Amino acid sequence: MMTGPRIITIANQKGGVGKTTTAINLATALAAIGEQVLIVDLDPQGNASTGLGIDRRERSVSSYDVLTGAMTLDEAAVQTAVPGLSIVPSTLDLLGVEMEIAGAPDRVLRLRNAVRASAERTNKFSYVLIDCPPSLNLLTLNSMAAADSVLVPLQCEFFALEGLSQLLETVEQVRQSINPSLTIQGIVLTMYDGRNNLANQVVEDVRAHMGEKVYETVIPRNVRVSEAPSHGKPAILYDLKCSGSQAYLQLASEVIRQERKLRAA
Ligand code: ADP
Ligand code: MG
Repeated sequence: MMTGPRIITIANQKGGVGKTTTAINLATALAAIGEQVLIVDLDPQGNASTGLGIDRRERSVSSYDVLTGAMTLDEAAVQTAVPGLSIVPSTLDLLGVEMEIAGAPDRVLRLRNAVRASAERTNKFSYVLIDCPPSLNLLTLNSMAAADSVLVPLQCEFFALEGLSQLLETVEQVRQSINPSLTIQGIVLTMYDGRNNLANQVVEDVRAHMGEKVYETVIPRNVRVSEAPSHGKPAILYDLKCSGSQAYLQLASEVIRQERKLRAA
């Protein structure tokens, strides 16, 4: 029996909550334990691509090419410096893709079809992580149509829960229309600062509202994590020992435990 990759989209319509940082470091941790991982960069800003050392000038292939049908997923994937980790980079062309494919009947299914075709042809990847733009636009909908589950980073700040209900509503709509088996993989609290009483309150509130959907691991605010992208490296490679990297390794082990349970079921 052919089993395709596990596809997880990392989404939150708020910017700056840790989507890209989570995508890069979770992917690196999974690759480090021998998984074949692909990141699909669906944000026109291309932070995941830059953060993995893929220079803008070198991006001759991109997720734009996949969404327009010009390239297969495998053709658009480039190997990163992290063994076992590839990325479909993004370019600013993505800004226009929404209008370009708006009239196509399969506009929401472009990414799903590309991922499925790749799984049938080469089945190269065991995990596909999708890094979404800060919006619930057609790109994010494509990611939710393609995914098995949604991983939601929430920043430990006062308005953390604001916007979550809208995101969950969108997931529900996708479930009722194009992707009935879409689940919530989990919610991960990011940029936690223990010296801040408010942050502790936020952690409590989110756990009270979302219960076991919230990962035990909380990602601390850590300057090494914010420095890493400017070196074109995941934090886990830039400084494995720092608290942020250690937290992302712990998050990866929680995700792997979830996956083992799923496979055993
Ligand atoms: P998003 O993709 O949701 O817009 P990012 O992952 O790009 O969010 O994070 C926003 C900013 O915060 C980036 O500059 C990033 O380097 C920084 N950042 C993310 N996580 C952490 C962290 N745990 N500690 C410190 N800085 C962080
Ligand atoms: Mg981002």
